[in-house]
Amino acid sequence: MEEKFKSVSIYDLYERFPSRDSCLAYLAKKKWESGFTCKHCGHHHYCSGGKPYVRQCTRCRYKESATANTLFHKVKFDLVKAFAIVYFIATNKKGISSCELSRTLQLRQKTCWLFRLKVLSAMETHRNVGLSGKVEISDFEIGMKKVMKNGREVRYKKRVVLAVEKKGKGVSHVYADEVNHRGYNQINAVVERTVNPDALISCYKLRGYDQICKKYQVISRVKKTKKTIMPLSYRIENSIVFWLRGIHHHAELLQYYLDEFCYRFNRNQMKEEIFVHLLERMVCHRPRTYMEIIS
Ligand SMILES: [Zn+2]
Repeated sequence: MEEKFKSVSIYDLYERFPSRDSCLAYLAKKKWESGFTCKHCGHHHYCSGGKPYVRQCTRCRYKESATANTLFHKVKFDLVKAFAIVYFIATNKKGISSCELSRTLQLRQKTCWLFRLKVLSAMETHRNVGLSGKVEISDFEIGMKKVMKNGREVRYKKRVVLAVEKKGKGVSHVYADEVNHRGYNQINAVVERTVNPDALISCYKLRGYDQICKKYQVISRVKKTKKTIMPLSYRIENSIVFWLRGIHHHAELLQYYLDEFCYRFNRNQMKEEIFVHLLERMVCHRPRTYMEIIS
């Protein structure tokens, strides 16, 4: 099958990646597509590292596997199942919980939880494209609850800043960022790295947005009440909140889930290719350890 396969059914997936070997072959091909560069000394020549899909630098003798320095680094379970997790995350319109992955693939829930977060790392927003044209900026709170070791339930809130680019009557692009709950001072920083300087902004009439109004051309400021809302932003806010409740049930590591939501939303047009796109991103992404993820 061609590498850039468009539509992938579960049948196609197992036919294309039936074994660890086929997964490694794919990763090696993607990883060294534009040639080999030794991670230690930068040398470009290599010989076989003695095992399949392992390359050894001919200068410093450093050996590198196809999974090393990617998000598949040190995956302790079957690589075929790891590819299947990427597949399920990519192809389920609303994502998939670690419990469901665990049931489907007969892996431990914690294993699925951790690898799932690695896949979500690859969905991280790169912000290469700043929002332009008419852009709505808003913020909202998400209620959280956490069960402590003594069984006590603690409730708290997290704040999210939302930047929504309008296109016609709809939305073309969304970025969402978790910010410090207490202060509005981070809104400005989020907007600066997300929105192009020539954008036309709509935002709330709150002190936290004053800085933005000095830097951008503001076309409307809406007083934030239950009746006066910015309809597009409000729609996206609700989608995020309902989706979080439905799929993840909690959102301790909120930014991962916000990135997942935006990744899907912004690639609405390329649904069929998301699986391949995610695999490619995972190959290019540096590895992430459990400690890095939870911190
Ligand atoms: Zn080397």
